[in-house]
Amino acid sequence: MEYRIRAHHGMCFSFFQGKGYSGEFTENMWKMKERLAQNPKVALVCGTDDVCAHCPNNQEGVCNSSDKVEAYDRQVLALCGLSENESLYWDAFATLVQRQIIASGRRESICGDCEWNELCR
Ligand code: SF4
Repeated sequence: MEYRIRAHHGMCFSFFQGKGYSGEFTENMWKMKERLAQNPKVALVCGTDDVCAHCPNNQEGVCNSSDKVEAYDRQVLALCGLSENESLYWDAFATLVQRQIIASGRRESICGDCEWNELCR
């Protein structure tokens, strides 16, 4: 099983503590966290993914903040040296996000204007 994960969600999963856009959304986030803990292959995308599938902001397959969040996705890919639609194991991706973005203090320069920013400090 390969999951679709939009690149900036690599950051969201690092900080997720049960808050989200709706009950269905957070329930799916917990499920996805469990699945990702098994280190599956993931395809990195810059569009709606297996997280967005249960989000109320997903309007017929397009995020209602698509310009903003796609910019997050592309910055994450660039900083990790990865490409759109690239497949890799989740742990490898999460390690890159941790090292290249979070531990190096770049996270807020990417998504500091997100409504959840305070939760990720
Ligand atoms: S806000 Fe947009 S990018 Fe974030 S989970 Fe919802 S649909 Fe996906």
